[in-house]
Amino acid sequence: MKKIVIALGGNALGNTPYEQLELVRETAKPIVDLIQDGNEVVIAHGNGPQVGMINLGLATAARTGSIKSDMPFPECGAMSQGYIGYHLQNAIGNELKSRGMDKEVCTIVTQVLVDEKDPAFQNPTKPVGGFYDKDVAEKIMREKGYKMVEDAGRGYRRVVPSPRPIDVVEKKTVENLIKAGNVVITVGGGGIPVVLRDGYLYGTPAVIDKDYASEKLAELIDADMLIILTAVEKVAINYKKENEQWLSSMTPDQAKAYAKEGQFAPGSMLPKVNACVEFAESKKGRVALITSLDKALQALNGETGTRIQM
Ligand code: ADP
Ligand code: MG
Repeated sequence: MKKIVIALGGNALGNTPYEQLELVRETAKPIVDLIQDGNEVVIAHGNGPQVGMINLGLATAARTGSIKSDMPFPECGAMSQGYIGYHLQNAIGNELKSRGMDKEVCTIVTQVLVDEKDPAFQNPTKPVGGFYDKDVAEKIMREKGYKMVEDAGRGYRRVVPSPRPIDVVEKKTVENLIKAGNVVITVGGGGIPVVLRDGYLYGTPAVIDKDYASEKLAELIDADMLIILTAVEKVAINYKKENEQWLSSMTPDQAKAYAKEGQFAPGSMLPKVNACVEFAESKKGRVALITSLDKALQALNGETGTRIQM
């Protein structure tokens, strides 16, 4: 039996709540395959479109006076964890039941500690919410203190920092729930970013990369494996070029060398490879795997996927 942290990518959830409810039924199958195979499974997931929708929807409703207030960004993250968690609980629960497996699925609204001194706070880069014209953007910046930047001629958009995760606040709860035999959904959207001030935690508007947060969680709960499930079955070098080559395995050193050559796109594959390198290097025997959602069990059995291991 292995303790596995699975990180689900955007393709596991789709772009609207209706699409998501459909898709998660498919997403549940490869996850339950891993559980049926006898593994302890913890599930993390992204939340880009979901948190964007909640944030923009409520900001728009507030601007037109339909509701009294917009929703602060950490609260939007919490809301997204809740409803994505519900969909996953429902779908994985139904799939377990259909296979006669007696297990419960639960979601932990999860806070993830970040450092206010992280250089990311000096240079917010992650765009969130809607596009505004210059006048409205200037008004929002004045009233809200947001940083907004011009986005490739499409208008002004708010940017927030993307700091590295340091700790998962609810990690002991997660461990206890796993030990008790439950399937746990946690660090959704990379977690709700919190900072420590005078011994207290406070939510902060930021976005933590879900691949990095999943890696941190995997280390903290002493997982054997980190499996990042995305839209591609393997990692490639010379991706989308005529000399493209799909990789079955990499050592952390090889992965770092490829990353240095610029083989992995910064906004998509690079954080996954970096997260896998960190996990593989964190302790002897730890294995990280990148593969597609539908190939999870085959990849675990060594038949496909890209393995990163010392
Ligand atoms: P997720 O929502 O799962 O985080 P991303 O779109 O952020 O998905 O990252 C996965 C994508 O990275 C793949 O679908 C692929 O298009 C892209 N990608 C970039 N570079 C590579 C590479 N070297 N090998 C494989 N895929 C790559
Ligand atoms: Mg991504």
